[in-house]
Amino acid sequence: MKLVFATNNQHKAQEAKSILGEGFEIVTPSELGFEEDIPETHPTIRENSIQKASFIWEKFGTSCFADDTGLEVDWLDGAPGVYSARYAGDEKDPGKNRIKLLKELEGVPFEKRTAHFKCVITLIENGKAIEFEGLCKGHIAMEESDAVNGFGYDKIFIPEGFDRTMAEISIEEKNAISHRGEAMRKLACHLQGRHE
Ligand code: IMP
Repeated sequence: MKLVFATNNQHKAQEAKSILGEGFEIVTPSELGFEEDIPETHPTIRENSIQKASFIWEKFGTSCFADDTGLEVDWLDGAPGVYSARYAGDEKDPGKNRIKLLKELEGVPFEKRTAHFKCVITLIENGKAIEFEGLCKGHIAMEESDAVNGFGYDKIFIPEGFDRTMAEISIEEKNAISHRGEAMRKLACHLQGRHE
C-alpha cells in the first residue's frame, strides 16, 4: 500500500519505513518533487497534525499521513510543547532549541526534569481523517550528549528505563519506545486490520 508521509524530515521517514515494514511504500513529498515547507500554524499539536495531512491530501489526492510532535517539560508547565520546532526562533535550529531548553532548566535537579514527547499522527484516506496518539516519558539530561544519531531534542532526552539519551540508542530501540513508534504502530494496526 502506497502512503505519502507529510514530512521532509528524512529521519522521520526512515523511522516510519522501519516501523511500518514491507507491506507499505512510504513516499515523502520531496520524493514527489515537492520541496516546500508544509504549513503548521495552529496552536495545538493535534490541529497541526490534521493541517499537515490535509495539505498533502489536497495537493496530491492520495492516502497520506502526517505527524506532529511536541516536547512537554513539566518544570516549564508543558513548554515548549507545540512550539518545540521554533523554541529558540523562527529559523527552527535544533541545536539552538536544545541550548535554550538546557538554559531554562539550569539548576533544576535531574528528578525534577521530567518531560514527555507527544505525537499525533493523522491518516487521511478517501478524504476521511483518523488520529493516532503516542507518548514517550523521560527526563531532560543535565547536558547534551555528543552522540551523532537522532535529531531534534534526542541528544538531551533520556527515555524512561534508559541511562542514555535518545541519540545514543539504536533506531530499533528508539522505535520500540518512542512517541512516534507508538502512534505508528496504532496506524499500522488500523491499516493492516482493514487491508488484510
Ligand atoms: P515536528 O513534529 O517535526 O513539528 O517536531 C517538533 C519539534 O520536535 C522539532 O524541533 C523536532 O525536531 C522535535 N522532534 C520531533 N520528533 C522528535 C524525536 O523523535 N526526537 C527528538 N526531537 C523530535
